[in-house]
Amino acid sequence: MAGEDGSSPIARSSSAARPRGVELDGIAGSAGVAVGRAVVIDAPESSVVRRRITEQQGEEELERFQRAVTSASRALREVAERIRESATRAESSIVEAYILMLEDETLRDAVERRILGECQCVEWAVDGAVRAMAEQLRAAHDPYLAERSHDFEFIGDRILRQLGGRQRTLSLVDLEEPGILVAHDLSPAETAGLHRERVAAMVMEVGTRTSHTAILARALEIPAVVGVRELLTQVATGDRLLVDALRGRVIVEPTDEQIAAATARAERYRAVAERSRVLQRPAATRCGVRVALRGNVELPAEAGIASALGAEGIGLYRTEFLYVDRAEPPDEEAQFETYRRVLQVMSPMPVTLRTFDIGGDKYVSAFQAPAEMNPALGLRAVRLGLARPELFLTQLRAMVRASAYGSLAIMVPMIASVRELREVRSLLERARREVDAAGHPSAREIPLGVMIEVPSAAVMAAELAREAAFMSIGTNDLVQYALAVDRTSRELAYLATPFDPAILRLIHGVVAAGRLHDRPVSVCGAMASDPLAAVLLVGMGLRELSMEASAIPGIKEALGRVTLAEAEAVVAAARALVTAEEIEALVIERLGPLLSDLLELDAAGS
Ligand code: PEP
Ligand code: MG
Repeated sequence: MAGEDGSSPIARSSSAARPRGVELDGIAGSAGVAVGRAVVIDAPESSVVRRRITEQQGEEELERFQRAVTSASRALREVAERIRESATRAESSIVEAYILMLEDETLRDAVERRILGECQCVEWAVDGAVRAMAEQLRAAHDPYLAERSHDFEFIGDRILRQLGGRQRTLSLVDLEEPGILVAHDLSPAETAGLHRERVAAMVMEVGTRTSHTAILARALEIPAVVGVRELLTQVATGDRLLVDALRGRVIVEPTDEQIAAATARAERYRAVAERSRVLQRPAATRCGVRVALRGNVELPAEAGIASALGAEGIGLYRTEFLYVDRAEPPDEEAQFETYRRVLQVMSPMPVTLRTFDIGGDKYVSAFQAPAEMNPALGLRAVRLGLARPELFLTQLRAMVRASAYGSLAIMVPMIASVRELREVRSLLERARREVDAAGHPSAREIPLGVMIEVPSAAVMAAELAREAAFMSIGTNDLVQYALAVDRTSRELAYLATPFDPAILRLIHGVVAAGRLHDRPVSVCGAMASDPLAAVLLVGMGLRELSMEASAIPGIKEALGRVTLAEAEAVVAAARALVTAEEIEALVIERLGPLLSDLLELDAAGS
């Protein structure tokens, strides 16, 4: 099929003789092994027009934007329609999620501000707004949020294509045998349009295991390795490739031995994968003890993805995302609409909305945060909320109003003392009085819970449990604060382990405090999405874990292979150990043989 300039979008290059067996490391995005010839797809056009417009042209540019959004969402709807019959629910909901993101008002507001306020032409405004949103997410130094930044770039690309009338259509019909698609990036919609018969595997320079493209590749059962640096400088069309998407590795011109070893492993993997089609049954240990697995989400559209992947509700909705790239914080109405939508999508399953966690590593430009030496220890999260009660009340009123539309709980981040919880409760009561006075309906009971992520909160968990409806342990920050390891530091990442005995001891204390006062305790930090750690947590008494949606099937499978007695025995043995290394070694020794296939993927994906 021809590209926009009439040339083939498949870049053909003469395959120079290459050394055999060159290995390129990446991330296993979708399990499997394939051997075939590379087909390199051209990098998409990236330059964007930058033109100043007059004030009078502003409205015209806004109309162009609106038309481009309409066409882009129409094009995506066509994709959704096309894949409806063959697609799984996860696949379809990802495309639908993109349609919602396209129409989201956060993006529209940001573009409008650039067009009307800064006199930028629409292409420039879209490009700038998308880059700023993506940058904010990347600045969080959180792999999951960083991954969401690709979603924004994808949406921006869709709109820009419409503005320029550009289409990048992929076609592998020229291929005589199934090829291995090699690209810088492939959008989820393009991935969704691929045919299993024509594509033996995919390899991309960008992406992580949780990128939506990787999720789609898994849904289509196309092996994929993503995040391969310098891929396009190493591989040319026609090269023979071994894609080992179990190990996250690509071998250029593989030897026969390499092919035989990878194929044997792929066979073993397939046998396990067959057994792990577990999406539709609730999570439980092998002996039948139920564990609720919920989703962590940032965007309303992700709620649908979480439920398609088997989430029993949302355990952590990071609302700070609503505040990103805005000159002014979102008003009550805009927040209410967003929360209501998430509650309705998930109803009757529970949704835990976390009040904004702004500050620290989660920078938001709408707040002129004071320059601080240690922002992670500064005016952040609930501290910011209490320092700016009018802002906090706006969010709390929006949440109270949304409670009429599903099963809502409110959770407060960075609680360090009982006093803070009391102050939040009194603001929440005031918010409720104001909502009542304005005549809006709301749920009679809204559980108010706390995140346990500051060591003082873990120490005072019993006192907090007496006054809070539930506790959710944020292990990302708990590890950072308890071990004094900056969560954004690459150099110290090796120290930031939830297997540290100090962390496990703090978690034990919180679980005991929950039992004492009969309050539910969950874990919503990244620890919950690690198969070994998840089993340990269940052995420690947790019955509710919340994690990135894509981790849910793997954790469900892991829990289903272990009895509670086995998990408790590992915990008992771990309690006698005094270093993180010893505990990790113990857990791997006891649970590794049971979970090796899941860990193989996990290790490759981390
Ligand atoms: C945590 O700290 O573990 C957590 C879940 O919150 P966040 O990652 O948003 O800080
Ligand atoms: Mg946190």
